[in-house]
Formats: sequence, C-alpha cells, structure tokens
Amino acid sequence: MKKRKKRNKILLTILLVLALGVIGLGIGRMAGRLVGACPAGSEGQGSQEQEGDIGGDAEMSGITGLSSAEASSRTESGTTKEESLSGTSSSASEPMPSPKNTPSPTSPPTPTPTPMPTRESLNDISVQDMSAYLGEMPPDGTDIVGTDTVDYTYEEVAKDLYFLTVRYPDLVKVRVCGESVDKRAIYEVVLGNEASENHIEIHYAMHSREYINTLLAMRQIEEYAKNAAGGGTYNGASIRDLFSNVCIHLLPMANPDGEMVAMGGLETLRLQSLRDIVHWCWESDTLLGRTAADLDTYLRTFKANAHGCDLNKNFDAGWAEYSDGVPVPSTDCYKGTGAASEPETQAILKVAHENPTRCVIAYHSAGNMIYWNYEVEDELLLNADRDLAAGLSEATGYATSVSPKYNVHLAGGCSDYFMWTAGIPAVTVETGQGTCPLTIYEFPAIWESNKNVLYKLAEMYGG
Ligand SMILES: [Zn+2]
Repeated sequence: MKKRKKRNKILLTILLVLALGVIGLGIGRMAGRLVGACPAGSEGQGSQEQEGDIGGDAEMSGITGLSSAEASSRTESGTTKEESLSGTSSSASEPMPSPKNTPSPTSPPTPTPTPMPTRESLNDISVQDMSAYLGEMPPDGTDIVGTDTVDYTYEEVAKDLYFLTVRYPDLVKVRVCGESVDKRAIYEVVLGNEASENHIEIHYAMHSREYINTLLAMRQIEEYAKNAAGGGTYNGASIRDLFSNVCIHLLPMANPDGEMVAMGGLETLRLQSLRDIVHWCWESDTLLGRTAADLDTYLRTFKANAHGCDLNKNFDAGWAEYSDGVPVPSTDCYKGTGAASEPETQAILKVAHENPTRCVIAYHSAGNMIYWNYEVEDELLLNADRDLAAGLSEATGYATSVSPKYNVHLAGGCSDYFMWTAGIPAVTVETGQGTCPLTIYEFPAIWESNKNVLYKLAEMYGG
C-alpha cells in the first residue's frame, strides 16, 4: 500500500513536470521560478494594476438594457454552441493550457456540454423575456440592493440592475461592455451626464474573492439614485447638479466568472472546459506547493478569471518584463498569454478608452488603503494622481500609500497601466481589513467609508 502510494506520488510529480514543461515552452519562460516572488493568495500589495492595449474586441458595446442571459439561455439549453467558447480574447494568441491539451495530474474529466447563452441571446433578451425570471420589483420605499449577505450572484446583480433602471430610468443606465470567458455579460452602469467631458471609470472585484466590493458598488449606485431622485445634497450642493457635468462608469462585477467560482464553486461555470481549467489550477498549485487547501477552500479564495489568469497582472505595463509570477494558470500570479489577452481586461480598457476619462479607480480588498503614484515621472500626471488620492482619502478616511513602479518581480497592474501607458490618473482602493473573502460583518464599515465616494468624485471632476 505504502509503496503504491509512493509510486503514485512519483508518477504524479513526473506528469506535472511534463505538463509544466509543455506549457513552459509555450509561455517562453522558465518553469524554474515557479514559486517566485508571488506567493499564492498574496494581494501583491494591491497597488499594482495595469493593463494592455486598447479596448480589445469586446464587441458588446452600446447594448442597452440588461441581458439576463441566463434565464432564457438555460431554457433553450442543449443548443450547444461550442463555437462561442473560444471567447473574445485569446483567439489571436496561443490557446490556454487546459487539461485537454496538457497531461493532467489526474485522470481526464469527462466533458459534459453545459447550456450557455450565446452572444446573440445576450443581445436579444428583452425586458419582457426577463420578467418571469426576475420576480417582483421590491415595493416603493424598499431598497433594491440587500445587504444581508455578501454572496451577491451574477443573476442577482443583473436582476437588481434591471430594477434600478426601472425605478430610476433617468438616473441609472446599464450597458454590457464586454463578455467574460464563460460568456457572462460584464455590466457597465452609467451615472451622470454622458455628454460631459469628464468621465470616470470605477471597477470592482477584478480579483474574484474580493466580491464584497460588488455589493459596495451596487449600494453606491442605489444610494446615488435614491438621493438624486429625492433632492439630496452633498456638501451643500444638490446631487443632481453635482452630476450635471460628470459621468461615472461603474463595473460592479469586473470578473463575474471568478466571483461566481469564489461564491459557489466549480458548478457555477457553465462550460465544462473552464471547470477543468480551474480544477487543474488547484491540482497544479497543490503540487507546486503553492497551496495546501482542499478544493472547496481553494475555490473560496480564488482570485483569477476562468482561464486561471490573474487579471491584475494581465495589463500592458511591464507585462513582458514580469517574470516572477507563475507560468501556468493558477489562482493568482499567472499573467496570461499576452497583455490584455483576457476579455475582462479588455472590458475595463474599453470603457476607459472610449470616453474622455479623467481618472480610473480600482476597488480591491483588503487594507483600508489608497495606493497611488506608481513612480511616474510626468509631474502633471503625478500631481493629478496626488489630488485624486487625497480627495478619496478625505472621503473615505483611508490612508494613502505610494506604490512603486512595476518591475520583473512586480507585475504592473491595472493602475500601473493607466498611469504609465495611458497617462490617466489612477488609484487602487483597498477596502476592509480581514482575510478575503471578507464577511458581511465588514460591510457596514466599508460602506461607511465609501458611501460618499461617488459624490466626492463628482464634486472634484464635475466643476
Ligand atoms: Zn485584489
């Protein structure tokens, strides 16, 4: 028994080494630095976000209304449109390693077709089609966004966004700005005056397990709409007036597949091939000594997208130079097959680049901290970033911290990209103080700190 166990272990190790070798060739980086400067689960000091080229090919722009894809597509099941799996992003780059083309540490899983919405169904779903799935609109005087649980699923977010557009038709607009790897809509909420020259992008929960920030975004949106509709004020100015010359774009769920995995496990992924990849990440991270967690725990603390790519290392700021990550799909620190290779990255880029964007804010957890600076040399840009960080610090009470420039050990993140590559002031806001996923018990404090952020930004940039 013991011998066989030992033999199995050796066999597994050999298989993994083979797998890494194959993938390593494709990635063009040594597999020797596997456990480099990016320990599994690290937030990587939160400050480094950056990203890649222009908006990519997220063709779903401009779609108005909600696409509650799921409902109808689930009923029209079976119509296996495997073609759509290849996704929006990686067509131009090499295929993602997956158990299908890589020796797996365990026996290969049996593929089962999973019903999924097609791109067409996402576009076509009308409000009427959604009604059966949505249920009742909460009665007037009742909040749409509930704060009794932190598990805020994609379906709930879609439903609540729809209700918000119904209750506040002139105040809340919702579009689809991209499509995740698993074909979920990436929603973009637009507040304020779109004709303004002052646009701001805020995105939340790019790291899956930081999904408490999706709840924060939804609360910010509803409170804004409620206050604007009710004639509310901020620092003596009417909220409606504050938003007359500014437009804020929010992506409450920037990484919907990953967030769903962290909330509900592998079954939340509709494509079997993606479940295989995420499961493979766990096996690989386990054998590499990057995690000792069982599968359930591993998934609950998952950070990447459904390709096993750490989105905050997928942006085009030092992407090529960064070599201390993990050269294979993982919960974190795998930078992807190319800068901005992932559709979620592309959605974030698209929103910023299709508007005259004054600044970009990335919500992460945890730390109660605002990272800025990124050691850019342009004085004007640095001053603008200092103002942004100071304004947010004043609104939230969070301290500010200088983030260093990216290098071979430190991947450039989303904010690095906007600062270094796009020349747009950017900061990273880290909410909460516990270990992710943060519990609902942290939410009241996070809300208290961040409830005025939208108003503050409107005050700063809408004048
Ligand atoms: Zn993060």
